Amino acid sequence: MFFKYLHIIKQEIKKALYLKRLLRNSIIPREKLKQIQMEKFKKILVHAYENVPFYSDKYNMAGIDPYSINTTDDISKIPILTKEEIRENFPDKILSKGINLDRCIISSTSGSTTIPLQYAVSPSNQYARDAVHEYVHNFVGCTKHHKLVHLITLHEGCCDKVEGNRNRYRVFSSYKNVDFHIKLFNKMKPDFLKACTSYLIALGSLLEDVKYDFRKPLTGIITTGELLTLQMKNEIERLFNTEVFDSYGAGETADLACECDMHNGMHEIMEHAYIEIICDGKPAIDNQAGKIIVTDLDNYSMPIIRYDVGDVALRSSNLCNCGSTSPLLKKIYGRFQDFLMSKNGELIPPFILRGGDSPFNNEPLCSILDKYQIFQNSDRSITVFLVTNSTISNEIKNNLTRFIQDRLGDINVSFEIVEDIPSENYGKFRFVISKAKKESIRNA
Ligand SMILES: [Zn+2]
Repeated sequence: MFFKYLHIIKQEIKKALYLKRLLRNSIIPREKLKQIQMEKFKKILVHAYENVPFYSDKYNMAGIDPYSINTTDDISKIPILTKEEIRENFPDKILSKGINLDRCIISSTSGSTTIPLQYAVSPSNQYARDAVHEYVHNFVGCTKHHKLVHLITLHEGCCDKVEGNRNRYRVFSSYKNVDFHIKLFNKMKPDFLKACTSYLIALGSLLEDVKYDFRKPLTGIITTGELLTLQMKNEIERLFNTEVFDSYGAGETADLACECDMHNGMHEIMEHAYIEIICDGKPAIDNQAGKIIVTDLDNYSMPIIRYDVGDVALRSSNLCNCGSTSPLLKKIYGRFQDFLMSKNGELIPPFILRGGDSPFNNEPLCSILDKYQIFQNSDRSITVFLVTNSTISNEIKNNLTRFIQDRLGDINVSFEIVEDIPSENYGKFRFVISKAKKESIRNA
């Protein structure tokens, strides 16, 4: 017991020190930050090569010498890591030697663009992720003295749950449970909310319907996980009467960028992540769209090096007036998913089909599926496109149909096995497309 507490105290100290460094270094000259980034990149690359069988094999095959990487040009020659490679090699070949999976925190990504995948963070690396999350909160003005409530979606009927401490709470509930949210907000009087875009629009619309006023006005909202268009931002600001700050990250890599109060784009968290924007195999120039390739500079338990997250962005190297010296991700494509319409015309946020209880995310389906897309036709019926080499049994199809009808009402659901599902412009992939008629941003 004593050693457990000692470990927790050590992690808390490391987290506090890293957070302090992230905040201090966010305003040092960019060249200095680049040097710090390069040193961290070299260190984790060598660690991965020496300790992770997947990377040793991959780099040997590609003829890469990890000990001679010194410049951004050198880095650009290192092969890209794909989602498929993580899925195929997790956990045995992609965890560092000596890491005990039983002691790791194993999570599954929400997979904004494709099928979820698992990743692991050991207890000795968790402090860095926690510090990066807290950095984002601080960056938008949510200090340790402000109360932040992170709203995490569940399907209606699941247990409402609140967990957390020291002004940071995670709330698991359905956006439809308005009474629960009202009681929660009245009791907790949060300063900041954090949630994905469609959750906020859906919940905010329901709160507006019952004319709810926050007893203590919100100081701000942090949006995560989905595309935030200007129209959506304006709507959330109107519904909650507060300022919205967008953030960008992936489960596998923690937060990667967040907005400052100048709202010029999202500042990259350079010390935590090395982000490349690649267009046609070359670094994109300013304001040119390209694939986001990320290296997590902090996760030594399961190194993520030159990882194709599946999103596309534009970057600006201009200095922002806020004082932060890091470059800005101006626009992120690939996080947009349509809202769906239920049989009776009700707005249904797309995340309702992606939760932990979704059969798309669970066995037996998830390991035999390469890709899927839920396509809603103009008559509100659903066609599910599946890319797989396996046979999908009637039992699985019936299960999926029940799952979809449970959320959208008694609509027709059909299945089509296809060879591939094309991505849209810039390589972005949408797992939900809806052609059902919508009337306003609330049903957008
Ligand atoms: Zn700024």
